[in-house]
Amino acid sequence: MKKQKEDARVDTPSDSTDSRTASWVAPSSLKACPFCGGEAAFATVRYSSVTMAEQEWEQDMFHYVSCVACGACNRGLVGHRNQFLAAVRWNSRPGEHRAAVAKAEGR
Ligand SMILES: [Zn+2]
Repeated sequence: MKKQKEDARVDTPSDSTDSRTASWVAPSSLKACPFCGGEAAFATVRYSSVTMAEQEWEQDMFHYVSCVACGACNRGLVGHRNQFLAAVRWNSRPGEHRAAVAKAEGR
């Protein structure tokens, strides 16, 4: 997995944990697959410039987490804006990390 270049990086120290800047996450931080217990890995999906324009997206590549054993993934319809959001979502389990998800999404 190549480390992403971040275009709109904010370098102020107070923003260092902000989801917009924390776009790269160590794969070792991912929990095991909730279905089969298999290893999870980051994956990406890239959209065409036509789709980007239609959806008014500012990025063509979105991130998600997938189980390498059974293929379960949390891509949803589109994917997540960065690895951090994908990882927080993947690591969420019922009753856990609700606050972390809300914080990561700026709610
Ligand atoms: Zn699995």
